Amino acid sequence: MRGESGQGIELFRLSGVAVAIDYSWLIIFALVLWGLSAGYFPDRYPGFAISSYWIVGLIATLLFFASVLIHELSHAFVANRLGEQVSRITLFIFGGMAHLSGEPEKPAVEFKVAGAGPLTSLILGGVFWGVQQAIPSAPAFTLWKAVFRYLAYINVALALFNLLPGFPLDGGRLLRAFIWWRTGSLTRATSRAADWGQGIAWGLIALGAFEIFAGALVGGLWLIFIGLFLRSAALSSYQHLFVDRMLSRMRVRDIMVTDPVTLTPDLTVSEAVDRYFLHLGFGGFPVVSEGRVIGLLSLPQVSNCPIEQRATRRVGDIMRRMDGSIAIADTASVADALHRMAEANTGRLLVMDGERLAGLVTRSGIARLVQMRMVLGGEPAVPAAA
Ligand SMILES: [Zn+2]
Repeated sequence: MRGESGQGIELFRLSGVAVAIDYSWLIIFALVLWGLSAGYFPDRYPGFAISSYWIVGLIATLLFFASVLIHELSHAFVANRLGEQVSRITLFIFGGMAHLSGEPEKPAVEFKVAGAGPLTSLILGGVFWGVQQAIPSAPAFTLWKAVFRYLAYINVALALFNLLPGFPLDGGRLLRAFIWWRTGSLTRATSRAADWGQGIAWGLIALGAFEIFAGALVGGLWLIFIGLFLRSAALSSYQHLFVDRMLSRMRVRDIMVTDPVTLTPDLTVSEAVDRYFLHLGFGGFPVVSEGRVIGLLSLPQVSNCPIEQRATRRVGDIMRRMDGSIAIADTASVADALHRMAEANTGRLLVMDGERLAGLVTRSGIARLVQMRMVLGGEPAVPAAA
């Protein structure tokens, strides 16, 4: 499984890839350890000391999580080899998550990166099966044989589960790459694969409910959790892509506020507050002197100016001075505008047509537009960039 998630605790780095664990992972580790040491091994192989079960249980758990990690690392290494940046892996509640910096470039790249994980798990399954075959069948080795047989099964199960054709599981990514290759549209492919992801998620939830009624409470809850998780991941990955593409296709000039109200630098701060901020309700204004834009005054600068100084200090003293960090060309993409706002730590940018102030673009305005597009559905009518 690949996707995005929170930060977690960083464990180590390997070939430029940081490996981290999410806090949820500690709970899963404890549950798997307990399930193996107090359930699986004693049930299937009775007659050993309790301490023996916990020792093999711990080793099996560690190797299981190492297997998940190797699965994720294989995605990351293949991605990095093919020129995609993966700099971090987070081991998460249902296995692992490799963080890609963006969407893949080509269907073939996506196919190889997605396929690497299940293939690696199958190979690991084969290796563990070979190890358990090599262990003698004498009673003294029974538990050790059992550990490696379990690891062989679990790796094959990991491969098969991840091959389910629902995005964002690996199988869903393979499906997406295939549809993308056939249709040439990444958006359509993602939408289709994410629908499959939701369908499979509902299937898992239904199966989980059935298991609970059949008496297998823990296994059933497990399936329901995985189903819910997959459902939300499928939904959010599609929305993410949709918004991402929409923002990089739209130009700043198509969404900016034209003819914004401007301030002059000699206005006092309290005049600006009373006559502009409070009166008009906007969060910021371009500052213009002799027909040229010289800065931007937004709420943060005003609130940083002590109240007792506002009657004497002037807009020109406290504004953000005009430079490249608070301005953007009207031909730039909306995605670029958002990046610049984040870098400059501002909620609005001056939109420039050469030297001329063409308008103002705000983060809240973009958010409103995105929301409207999501509600109305469909895609902006701009030629496909893929
Ligand atoms: Zn995977």
